[in-house]
Amino acid sequence: MNRVYNFSAGPATLPVEVLEQAAQEMVNYKGTGMSVMEMSHRSKAYEEIINNAEKTLREIMEIPDNYKVLFLQGGASLQFAMIPMNLMTKHKKALMLNTGAWSKKAISEAKKFGEVVVKASSEDKTFNYIPDVESLDLSEDADYVYITNNNTIYGTRFTTLPDTKGKPLVGDMSSNILSEKIDVSQYGIIFAGAQKNIGPAGVTVVIIREDLIGHADASVPTMLDYKTHVDNDSMFNTPPTYSIYIAGLVFEWIKKLGGVSAMEKINNEKANILYNYLDESKLFSGTAEKKDRSLMNIPFILPTEELNAQFIKEAAAKGFVTLKGHRSVGGMRASIYNAMPVEGVQKLVDFMKEFEAKNS
Ligand SMILES: *Cc1c(COP(=O)(O)O)cnc(C)c1O
Repeated sequence: MNRVYNFSAGPATLPVEVLEQAAQEMVNYKGTGMSVMEMSHRSKAYEEIINNAEKTLREIMEIPDNYKVLFLQGGASLQFAMIPMNLMTKHKKALMLNTGAWSKKAISEAKKFGEVVVKASSEDKTFNYIPDVESLDLSEDADYVYITNNNTIYGTRFTTLPDTKGKPLVGDMSSNILSEKIDVSQYGIIFAGAQKNIGPAGVTVVIIREDLIGHADASVPTMLDYKTHVDNDSMFNTPPTYSIYIAGLVFEWIKKLGGVSAMEKINNEKANILYNYLDESKLFSGTAEKKDRSLMNIPFILPTEELNAQFIKEAAAKGFVTLKGHRSVGGMRASIYNAMPVEGVQKLVDFMKEFEAKNS
């Protein structure tokens, strides 16, 4: 089997077991005589698929009963607008933390619907750290507090949550959902585009506390009101059926591995393999501050642009692909989401060691 190790930031690598199961079920899903993408979303077979996907996600994330799970379209980017449209209802104000390009997009979108106070930012150092949340004063009145839990481009993540003084916390977990155990009850809304750690592009998971539903202004379009999707079990209109099916298989895959805690253990192991090498290497260096390092996205650089380009080219020839860093950080980025096996990271580090020996 000629699979490469794909370090793409998203759409990203998927568990090969899931792809194989999907391949087996492609033409004739469980005796229905058709593929999942050909079946009515109102059919019994499909109802079972979407219900099981939600059930398994609830199980592995331990989602409390007072939270709804939605499968929506429009990507994480549409949530940048849906969140203020549904939540900026009383104070017409949000407190937001700016930790990267995705935060900035969420901030500029929220500004279309009300006041945004940026309470902290790490823009002064190209977002290579998370601002100190413990010294933050978030006591002012606002409808919610907003963070980007994992910063895909810069390889940083929140390890401590800000004290919101009772206001709902909204977390963009597009690139780290299901990577480590979290306490859902600390959030008002968690959302994630699927194409990094859940499945194919086209579906966005939204986990929302019940008391935050149903406050949108009557002028909010039906499709952008969370209540529409809650009232219709994500079936107000045709959902992204195939993406939800694959997401369900990925949730099952995590459950079979032992759940999110087991996943977290593997993710720590993988990240340590790469970080330990970056810390001892005399040629490669990591770009994110150590205390805020992501488990999922690991940016690193070589001393010159020529070496960066040479490394990316030689790595690709060996089957380590999509390692080019984001243009704002440069160098390389290894995205090592849940579906990247330990072996893939180990082999990448072995190759980096070879590269270092040859080029120093
Ligand atoms: C990829 C990403 C997004 C954007 O996701 P889309 O589904 O393409 O809109 C938003 N936030 C974070 C943290 C991301 O990594």
